[in-house]
Amino acid sequence: MNTTLLDPRTGGLRADLPTAVLHDHLDGGLRPATIIELADAIGHPLPSADENELARWFVRGAEQGDLAAYLDTFRHTTAVMQTAEGLRRVAREAVLDLAADGVVYAEVRYAPEKHQERGLSLDEIMQAVQDGLAEGMSEARTPGGFPIVVNTIVCALRTERRSLEIAELTARWRRRDPRIVGFDLAGAETGWPAALHAAALALIRAELVRLTVHASEEPDLLLISDALEHGAERIGHGVRLAHDMTDLSGPSPRLGRLASYVRDRRICLEMAPTCHVQIGAVDSLERHPIGPMLRLGFNVTVNTDNRLMSGVKVSTEMAAVAQAHQLTAPELHRLVRNAVESGFGDHDERQHIMTTIVDPAWR
Ligand SMILES: [Zn+2]
Repeated sequence: MNTTLLDPRTGGLRADLPTAVLHDHLDGGLRPATIIELADAIGHPLPSADENELARWFVRGAEQGDLAAYLDTFRHTTAVMQTAEGLRRVAREAVLDLAADGVVYAEVRYAPEKHQERGLSLDEIMQAVQDGLAEGMSEARTPGGFPIVVNTIVCALRTERRSLEIAELTARWRRRDPRIVGFDLAGAETGWPAALHAAALALIRAELVRLTVHASEEPDLLLISDALEHGAERIGHGVRLAHDMTDLSGPSPRLGRLASYVRDRRICLEMAPTCHVQIGAVDSLERHPIGPMLRLGFNVTVNTDNRLMSGVKVSTEMAAVAQAHQLTAPELHRLVRNAVESGFGDHDERQHIMTTIVDPAWR
């Protein structure tokens, strides 16, 4: 790839190049220093009180390649997100950190039901997060001098039985706050298909809320087709869709029915390549299907998923994918365009970001 696109200090993409991210969890992107400070204030014990050591501990949890250990790291981040101040601060800092990394359009997501351990109501949680995001947006500018737009996707946990309640909450908030743009099913997937949450997903469709559904685990293709059957417009990850293709990087790639459908319908795949290596869905970034799929015309995007646990930023993830797959500048531009085009937020606003920020900078 063209090395003038990289920042020699960070190894990531130059932060003055505008990017976008559609799949970033609020409880997976905290600053280690903030976790330490907030944990101290509420007496929550952490694996380390040293910022750098704590950061390494989180990444080690992800690198064990075991989804249960990975999900366990979230115990410590959600512990400090149980008060309105904690939530507001984490949301504000997420916006500042994304902007500092060059992101001009983001959709962040979280599951409100994970933040009720100290008695907050779901409405108080939603309010605190929206306040923090709005504060961040009013303050933040990217290194290129651009503002950042951040919209919210509300997650329901597929291992719990509260999805209908969370869907109703999302629909109610969507009516009063246009920055609440979508709904998602998150958490452990195997054994908890979207079909278990059919009522919630039907309500989301009837209420005209946009829908994305996580599908990164086994049974690979069934989880993806089940999500599509229940109305998912985007797929969280979808990395195992590669199992429906043969000779993906070879001279004559062949797509199965599901892969063809996803490509031809332009269904956005919210890929998080480093995370996929960490959870063992693929062996390495080089063997990740994102490069070949981009070249075959799939609507793939590069995402962080959990910046803290995966030890990534949007800029480092873009650079890592670019290097692993020798992507050109126009191909990187395509990845950013895919994300802005597939966003759930207001079309005029996204179009404005594309024509006034993304396209001029990348051309
Ligand atoms: Zn995710």
